[in-house]
Amino acid sequence: MVALTVFARQLQRHLVKQVRLPVSLRSVQVRRCNLSACSSRFVLSQMHPMWQEPLEVPGGERQSPIDISIRKSVFDPNLKPLVTRYDPRTCQQIWNNGYSFLVEYDDRTDKSTLHGGPLEDQFRLCQFHFHWGENNNWGSEHTVDRHLYPAELHLVHWNSDKYSLFEEAVMEDNGLAVIGVFMKVGKRHEGLQKLVDALPAVRHKDSVVEFTKFDPSCLLPQNTNEYWTYAGSLTTPPLTEAVTWIIMKQPIEVSHDQLAVFRSLLFTSAEEEVQKSMVNNFRVQQSLKDRTVRSSFNPFLHNAVTNDP
Ligand SMILES: [Zn+2]
Repeated sequence: MVALTVFARQLQRHLVKQVRLPVSLRSVQVRRCNLSACSSRFVLSQMHPMWQEPLEVPGGERQSPIDISIRKSVFDPNLKPLVTRYDPRTCQQIWNNGYSFLVEYDDRTDKSTLHGGPLEDQFRLCQFHFHWGENNNWGSEHTVDRHLYPAELHLVHWNSDKYSLFEEAVMEDNGLAVIGVFMKVGKRHEGLQKLVDALPAVRHKDSVVEFTKFDPSCLLPQNTNEYWTYAGSLTTPPLTEAVTWIIMKQPIEVSHDQLAVFRSLLFTSAEEEVQKSMVNNFRVQQSLKDRTVRSSFNPFLHNAVTNDP
């Protein structure tokens, strides 16, 4: 998942939530890219600089992402259905943060929430984002029996029963709950299209565009009762082990053209000479160590291995 660093997040809140400039003023996108950047013939595709040096994780006993082994997952009949209550009016903006694009929600009140499933507390939606590859053969962070999907959606929520801010929750054991949804290539996803249409406005790093009235529940699969859950971490720095992961078994379908628009975004800002395609923005997989992945469904009765993926 994409965690903003605490400071970046605070800065962003300061700029956007407290000052609340009109979009036209806070949008970096209004700045035209200079001729050399726009005419650059070379758009590089390579691993993001964030991962060029190994990152130390203190402890590091519950890192993410992981491979989910269907056979080794343990059916837990006590896992409840997930309950999402999202208010589209809390949707605010899209931000290209140089690693992914974040669709951000007003999380000052309990208007868009998640509870149930493996969770004891109520969690508040703050943003969702995606990870994807340079082609359709890879891109997801989690895998199922080593199967890679071309993209993965992360809906990020923080524990509003125990904490008062995302910045507090991100450092704590039971601070975050992230829903992961695999994306496979198939027919066009009508719900996603409104977001896809807005993406050219945030092509460059640091650009922000107003984006409102988007209900993220349209991006959940039809069947949200079947999921895996495990204790893990953020998949971007600070990599804190704060996350209860809830990974949907059923993927959603999106078209190749929709993913192509994701890949047309850039890791780089408008003024950088060599532009870099925003692709392969996933973390390498981590070992399961002493953890159990629980499933809300009986893995021996399901046919995901043969039919899906
Ligand atoms: Zn993510």
